[in-house]
Amino acid sequence: MALFWRRPTQPGLPVSPEPDPAALPQDLVDGIPDPAALLDGKGQIAAANAALGRLFAREQCAGRTLLELSRSSELSEAASRALAGPPVHAEVRLPSSDVVVQASISPVAPSGGLLVLRDLTEEKRMESIRRDFIANASHELRTPVAAISGAVETLLGGAVKLDPDAKGFVEMIARHAERLARLTRDLLDLSRLESGQYRAEIGSVDVGPFCESAMDLVRARATEKRIILGYDGPPELRVMADRRALEQVLVNLLDNAIKFTPNGGHVTLLADGGGSAAVLSVIDSGPGIEPRHCERIFERFYRADTGRSREAGGTGLGLAIVKHLVQAQGGQVGVESGRGGSRFWVRLPIAT
Ligand code: ADP
Repeated sequence: MALFWRRPTQPGLPVSPEPDPAALPQDLVDGIPDPAALLDGKGQIAAANAALGRLFAREQCAGRTLLELSRSSELSEAASRALAGPPVHAEVRLPSSDVVVQASISPVAPSGGLLVLRDLTEEKRMESIRRDFIANASHELRTPVAAISGAVETLLGGAVKLDPDAKGFVEMIARHAERLARLTRDLLDLSRLESGQYRAEIGSVDVGPFCESAMDLVRARATEKRIILGYDGPPELRVMADRRALEQVLVNLLDNAIKFTPNGGHVTLLADGGGSAAVLSVIDSGPGIEPRHCERIFERFYRADTGRSREAGGTGLGLAIVKHLVQAQGGQVGVESGRGGSRFWVRLPIAT
């Protein structure tokens, strides 16, 4: 293991005393604050620090295999992969405990590996508390919001005679109640997606007719703004997708395209299928998105143009939902944007 120590070669630098080769691996892992171990070429622990011993409740870790210590075949397989190739990073739940770790295993020449585990249990617990809180709060908010919307609808429906000033206020309440309803629905959807409760039902989808029917759902809004809505794609292109999820993805992207494109503009849904994946693109002739925002607009509540988004009734959650839904279907999503407009793309596996 002499590779961990190099004699300084630059002239003038003090030469450190020759280290004890046996102590080097131990010194190395002792210097790491997280649970860590050096593995030999067979995946056996050559040296481990005290934090690893505490994690697995063992006084003596050296000499054992990772599988013996952790009882996790996932962790053991990750280590085998790293010993044979490039570094492996994996999130692993340790069997028969609530402990979740982020394992990073890097190969070390000539044959061996360095394992470092980061305990994510507390982080995960806090995340789940936050998600539950948001889900519960959104759920609780739905009933009063629905009651306000119902009452406002009755008032505007002529049940009570309103003078013009009062009508203006009631209409304002109606607009905000609708926005609140959208926000609570999006928050609930997002917390379900983030918690992994959502399971995609993947099947073969005929892209052409599917895109046409998704466009029908937003056509009225496009017509209101005199936006020309079109579809183009090869016939008989099929992708592997969850129909409900894909519909929501396309509607969210088309909705945004229509929302941000000025009156009289163009919104096109384009399908392209070369190789093993198909790409569906929603292209608009809107104002575009500055490059510094493009990477972040898939984060929840991130808006490139806060004023314009709020004015247009946006919740700031649509693209975060799109990202989760696409990932749940095994796809990828992205954006390219410039002054002439934006192209949001979704890549999905082709159905054979
Ligand atoms: P919102 O409800 O605000 O539309 P989204 O998550 O759907 O929330 O979008 C996030 C932000 O990305 C928007 O606020 C807007 O700034 C930007 N954005 C999304 N789609 C477009 C588009 N087609 N053209 C320009 N900006 C867009």
